[in-house]
Amino acid sequence: MFAKIVSGEIPVEILAETDRVLAFPDISPQAPVHILVIPKSTAYANVAELAAAEPETLAEMVAVARSLAEEHANGEYRLIFNSGATAGQTVFHVHAHLLAGNLEERSLGAS
Ligand code: AMP
Repeated sequence: MFAKIVSGEIPVEILAETDRVLAFPDISPQAPVHILVIPKSTAYANVAELAAAEPETLAEMVAVARSLAEEHANGEYRLIFNSGATAGQTVFHVHAHLLAGNLEERSLGAS
């Protein structure tokens, strides 16, 4: 499904884009700032697969997330990679949830 966002078939507000990475708002925000950061490649279902195959793309996702947290919040942020259905993953195209903006201290999850 995120492949359709990368191809432009599903229009989104692009908040950041590099050759390998795209960021757009989560359609169902769980925090004042809730942005999804994804690799354009559809080859990886989860962060471990991406880290093993393309660590530089993962590093780029983190750099993009950090810069978006500076742009949209105070530069402090939480990055979440749900990995597996029982961990809450519903889209099997690796994505980072970037959460920022007065997060509940005790809440660890995106929901
Ligand atoms: P996860 O549950 O970790 O797999 O996260 C999938 C996320 O994708 C959820 O937070 C959804 O709200 C979000 N989502 C699903 N479809 C879209 C869409 N078309 N545009 C933006 N976010 C979406």
